Amino acid sequence: MKVVEIIGRTIQGEGKYIGLPMAIVRLYGCDLNCTWCDTKYERNQDFEEMSVNEIVKNLKLRNVMVTGGEPVIQDEFTMLLGILEGRGHRVHVETNGMRLKKEWASRFNDVVWAISPKLRSSGNKINYKKRYEVFTEFLNCSLREAFLKFVITEEVEKDIDEAIKIVDWFGSFWNQVYFQPVDNNEFIYREMIKYGPDGVRYLFQLHKIMGMQ
Ligand code: SF4
Repeated sequence: MKVVEIIGRTIQGEGKYIGLPMAIVRLYGCDLNCTWCDTKYERNQDFEEMSVNEIVKNLKLRNVMVTGGEPVIQDEFTMLLGILEGRGHRVHVETNGMRLKKEWASRFNDVVWAISPKLRSSGNKINYKKRYEVFTEFLNCSLREAFLKFVITEEVEKDIDEAIKIVDWFGSFWNQVYFQPVDNNEFIYREMIKYGPDGVRYLFQLHKIMGMQ
């Protein structure tokens, strides 16, 4: 697999499990190109080819985040999940939700799916309707272990309106929805609170505040 970095011990910096001790496997490559992407792992990054077994032996914590980039685009993604689960890890997957497959929801029913659907303000030229259908179908199979994280830009009202439409697409799910201001922007954070729906939670990226990876 193409690996950008493995972090043996850190904390989860965002989303539902923020603050949880976490090992991180950051994979190379992404199928999108968000204007505000803070990782840019989708291009111009060094990576190392590693086997799934080499990756797994570097992990010291039970909770493991598989992230990127977009991790699901790598050929051995499902093999990695299977081996991690087989070794007793609690696996978390951070994905943009574009290529989720319905069968993964039941095949990996202990995986925590952290889905971050990209809004139009991300600048991607994609078929948004089709994208919503893909992860809506997936979420309907795995509500227990999935949550949505939306990155909100300076276009706060527009972004929140779009996020509301997405969540309403498959029914109320607001206790599993997180809004995060782009670049930990405090002005956006305050604006989100004015416009956000009841039940949503507003988070910063803790690892950035702490200066951690
Ligand atoms: S989906 Fe994530 S990794 Fe890919 S370009 Fe967007 S923010 Fe960056």
